[in-house]
Amino acid sequence: QEEKPGLTNKMNPEPIHVDPNYKGSGRLSNKVALITGGDSGIGKAAAIYFAKEGADVAIVYLDEDSDADDTRRQIEDEGRKCLLIPGDVGDEAFCKSAIEKTIEKLGKLDVLVNNAGEQHPQKSLLDISTEQLEKTFRTNIFSMFHLTKAALPHLKKGASIINTASITAYAGNETLIDYSATKGAIVSFTRSLSMSLAKDGIRVNGVAPGPIWTPLIPSTFEAEKVEKFGTDTPMGRAGQPFELAPAYVFLASDESSFVSGQMIHVNGGKIVNG
Ligand code: NAD
Repeated sequence: QEEKPGLTNKMNPEPIHVDPNYKGSGRLSNKVALITGGDSGIGKAAAIYFAKEGADVAIVYLDEDSDADDTRRQIEDEGRKCLLIPGDVGDEAFCKSAIEKTIEKLGKLDVLVNNAGEQHPQKSLLDISTEQLEKTFRTNIFSMFHLTKAALPHLKKGASIINTASITAYAGNETLIDYSATKGAIVSFTRSLSMSLAKDGIRVNGVAPGPIWTPLIPSTFEAEKVEKFGTDTPMGRAGQPFELAPAYVFLASDESSFVSGQMIHVNGGKIVNG
């Protein structure tokens, strides 16, 4: 394992999106996926792995210093189509238009990955303004309602919805109170929606990452926290985006045809309830 780059307990905030040894085997052949936050970190790795497995991918992202062109290039290098859709997933009208654009340009939608998220570490509950609280909830969880509602009329039997939660939904985090609450809501949303859509043959699952080296970490945590990031996991290190991508591939593929309402925990071995 140590032969792979980035798998160390040293500070390593440069995300590695692709394991160069990963070979796709057509597990998502001819599927179309939409991934929010697919320009960066966990979503970017999932987008590239989906393309390696044969999917065309629409990427939704905030257009601020975005790496989206690089994701597109890597998807196109796999011989797949990539549609870039910049905009704010906290906006219901935008969510509807993102789904419509995907259908118009890529022909259908088989997999929806609700992955975009934001966090704003705070020292105390008293530091969370109402404005910030509403924004975090809009981006992290309202977006999942809006995008999924817009997607539902287009999803056919066999479709898969994948929501990115977090270990903080289970373990909590004293400096991410609002964020953790949104992630807890994502777990409940995933379970309830999976039950409601089971009769239609649509599966709904999630991935609950532990600490992962992505741009989110150095851009939001103080240097001291970044330095120790991930060292409290049983493996003693943070993960890399490429270590999550295969979990998304599995949940998107027909191989997980009897899996719904579940969370895959990718967190360096931490045991969490639920
Ligand atoms: P990231 O910052 O690298 O990527 C997130 C992307 O989401 C951004 O690049 C942006 O384009 C997009 N985004 C954010 N707000 C948006 C908005 N309002 N509208 C449209 N797009 C928006 O972060 P990441 O670490 O890859 O995070 C991906 C997901 O994983 C998030 O939901 C995050 O909460 C979750 N997560 C991350 C970690 C970690 O340690 N990195 C741990 C647990 C959960």
